[in-house]
Amino acid sequence: MVSSALEALQRHNFEFKDRPYNELVIQYPEINSYIKWWCNEYPWDNSIYNIGYNKYLKEFLISNPPTFKISAQCCDWAKKKVKAQLDYDLMIVGIRKAEGGIRSSKYENCYSTNLDEPDNYRPLFWFKNEDKEVYDDIFTIKHSDCYCKWGFARTGCVGCPFNRRVLTDLNIIKRYEPNMYKAVNNIFKESYEYTKQYRQFVREMKDKERGRRRLF
Ligand code: SF4
Repeated sequence: MVSSALEALQRHNFEFKDRPYNELVIQYPEINSYIKWWCNEYPWDNSIYNIGYNKYLKEFLISNPPTFKISAQCCDWAKKKVKAQLDYDLMIVGIRKAEGGIRSSKYENCYSTNLDEPDNYRPLFWFKNEDKEVYDDIFTIKHSDCYCKWGFARTGCVGCPFNRRVLTDLNIIKRYEPNMYKAVNNIFKESYEYTKQYRQFVREMKDKERGRRRLF
């Protein structure tokens, strides 16, 4: 969501400054929903639709406006649009309800039909974590070193910049797959650096906040 918002703002040459919603919406009427995000104008408390949901992000962007292009379209072009060009009737995917998150909450059961897309079947949808353990025991499953030796919590595209643990995972990749590390840096270096900078900024702001609290 944040990447989509930044993509839209950048497309309109937005100046990352703290200005009132009423002014900004006149200057950028085509992207009203993203201006609302920037100005925390959505009325729900702690709403994910407001920039304030990500602590100190607004302050960070004002102090460090992005100097490279940001986009939320990586999955669209690397996965979804490629898939759309293939001719098939059924898509079988491993999403589980117990995973939580936006992906699993999009579905209510293990099968869906959509006029614009092939049917979608999720055979693992109702599997709980305990079921996974039983399955492992019965079929003596040996899991990938990624999980068992190297300590990844999840795997997906290597070095995906949308992964919450990306900076931790990058250290693991650097150690065990140095060539892969070079490859992902070739693609996502700016994103990693910017994420690092943001996390550091948040730490410093929190320290300042704690210092202020001690003073009073
Ligand atoms: S790297 Fe991440 S964002 Fe890009 S396609 Fe893979 S999962 Fe999607």
